Amino acid sequence: MKNAAFTLINSAKGAIGMRSDGDAYDLVIIGGGVVGTAVYFRAALSFEIRSAALLEKHHAVAQVNSNVLANAETAHRGDKETNFSLPKALRMHAFYKYLVAYLKERGHGAYVELPAMVISTNVEEANLLRMRFKMLKPHYPDLELIGWQEIAAIEPKVVEGRNEDEKKHLYALYSKGHAVDYAQLAESFVREGDKEAKANGKEFHAFFRTKVFGIERDADNTYLVKTNRGVFRAKTLVISAGPYSLMFAKRLGVRHAENGLPAEEYAILPVAGSFHYTTEKFLNGKVYTVQDENIPFAAPHADRAVYNENETRIGPTAIVLPFFERHHFSTIVDFMKMGMLRPWDYFLTLLRVLGDPRLSRFELKNILYNFPILGKWFFLKWGAQKVIPTMRFRDLHFGRGMGGIRPQLLNLKTRKLEMGLGKFVGDSDNPVICNVTPSPGASSCMGNAIEDIELVESFLKERGVRNGS
Ligand SMILES: Cc1cc2nc3c(=O)[nH]c(=O)nc-3n(C[C@H](O)[C@H](O)[C@H](O)COP(=O)(O)OP(=O)(O)OC[C@H]3O[C@@H](n4cnc5c(N)ncnc54)[C@H](O)[C@@H]3O)c2cc1C
Repeated sequence: MKNAAFTLINSAKGAIGMRSDGDAYDLVIIGGGVVGTAVYFRAALSFEIRSAALLEKHHAVAQVNSNVLANAETAHRGDKETNFSLPKALRMHAFYKYLVAYLKERGHGAYVELPAMVISTNVEEANLLRMRFKMLKPHYPDLELIGWQEIAAIEPKVVEGRNEDEKKHLYALYSKGHAVDYAQLAESFVREGDKEAKANGKEFHAFFRTKVFGIERDADNTYLVKTNRGVFRAKTLVISAGPYSLMFAKRLGVRHAENGLPAEEYAILPVAGSFHYTTEKFLNGKVYTVQDENIPFAAPHADRAVYNENETRIGPTAIVLPFFERHHFSTIVDFMKMGMLRPWDYFLTLLRVLGDPRLSRFELKNILYNFPILGKWFFLKWGAQKVIPTMRFRDLHFGRGMGGIRPQLLNLKTRKLEMGLGKFVGDSDNPVICNVTPSPGASSCMGNAIEDIELVESFLKERGVRNGS
């Protein structure tokens, strides 16, 4: 009965979700950011996956966090993130290498190579950089530990205006790095995916203005993905829809890939990040500052913009805002609905997380950054001048329309904030993967796609064995 209803929607809307042979897609991907489009590209290279559809609610790819104005355009390598453990840094490095390999082969125009460093500004930070250098150097042969004279030769503005005492503690972990326009990269993933699929006689389609509002399953375990443009039938699903991935993970009853907790035990803490920018050249590349290991958001950093060497982007700030997508006020309702599923647990977890004095001090500082006029002054003193001491009030402009929302995961069971990416997976009876992707999700897109496609292939093989094909 259910199937008939779905077919009715399909035919009423012109059967847009149907494949040409009427069969279900091997894979349907929800979300056309850089993470979902990377999965689309990798799927096109797979022997197992013969058909795929990408569903994106906006008119084009990368309109939310992967947009060029939304993020810091950094390809993270793991060596300049001073709060990463060695295993975490090495995993990031492996994912970074996949990304750079793609960029060099197919991503022409979407990136620039430039100098990248993390600096110390006091004795404790200098000691930390020395220690990390020792730990990281065997794994990052191109990494250097440099002093202020060498920094001055690469980034003169980082040294200018510092007194002798400050210079004594100024060190940097330095190497070449990459700035990436993740929106262009997402476009290239779809273009290259389509090209590969066509060359191999596969059926791959990207559908825009196609919003998923529900997912059900029919008797033979095929997903029925309900959208405003009809129903798409899918054998497997990858959902990379930012914070909405968790919403679907809850509905589909899947579990956290690492700790096995049901998605029900999680909620989203939306942390908005804004940027200031300059209209004059200050830097040649990227300059990060040492990160507090208890705070999961990057310490303020300064980055030359991908397309404009005269623009330096400084930030991001971090402030909790009740939105799922920045500048899209309607998403406040979605946040309320999802947060309010277990309001008591959400409230207690939030209280515990924000009650940590280090995090509350950090949040207070970030709230101050958002005050009119005074906020810019605080940001200049505590953020921008830490990297570029000679920067003046008038050099800085608040980036209206810039920035995004990091969908940080709150564990309602342990009442803790979890760092990094969250993956929720089903099994061969419920073959779905849901990716929740705060920073550095964009840098991980290729590595993540490789892992997701391996899992999708195993789901499809098991389904084939079960159906005797
Ligand atoms: C301030 C800030 C700075 C950052 N800086 C960096 C950085 O320098 N380097 C880095 O690696 N990462 C950075 N990140 C993180 C990075 O931006 C994200 O990890 C990455 O963009 C996530 O990509 P995504 O494809 O998962 O999500 P998104 O780009 O948000 O895409 C999700 C897509 O899903 C679509 N969607 C949602 N719901 C539906 C639905 N129901 N139906 C259909 N489509 C749907 C949305 O429209 C959207 O296009 C930063 C993030 C922020 C906020």
